[in-house]
Amino acid sequence: MSDTSPKSKTLALIAHDGKKADLVGFVKDNVKLLQQFDLVATGTTGTYLEKAGFKVHKVQSGPNGGDAQIGAMIAEQKLAAVIFLRDPLGIHPHEPDIFMLLRLCDVHDIPLATNLASAKILLIGL
Ligand code: PGA
Repeated sequence: MSDTSPKSKTLALIAHDGKKADLVGFVKDNVKLLQQFDLVATGTTGTYLEKAGFKVHKVQSGPNGGDAQIGAMIAEQKLAAVIFLRDPLGIHPHEPDIFMLLRLCDVHDIPLATNLASAKILLIGL
C-alpha cells in the first residue's frame, strides 16, 4: 500500500474576497486542528488572517501572482493540502492562475477543498 501521509505540514489558505470572512471564521473555529500546520496564504487573505491573530507566510496577492506561487509550491510537493474558498459568483481577472492551481492539485494528488464543508472534512482527515 502506498504511503498517503502528507509529505509536508504546510497548508495553503486562499479565499476570494466574498469568502474571506468565511475563511477567517473557519480558521478561528479550527485553531486546534490547524496548530500542527505552517500556514501559507495569498497576500490579502494572509493579511486578514494576520489581523485575526494568526501567523502566516504571505505570498503575492492572488491577482498579482499569488495563486501561481501557491501552484509552484504544489508542483514542488511543498504543501500538505490547499483550502481555497472560491467565490463562484464573482468574476476574477486571474482565472487562468486559479485553474492552474486547481489543476496542479489534481496533477500532484494534493488534497483540495473549495468550500467550507469540504474544508472541515479535509482538516479532520489530514
Ligand atoms: P488574495 O488572493 O488573498 O490576495 O485576495 C486570492 C485570490 O483571489 O486568488
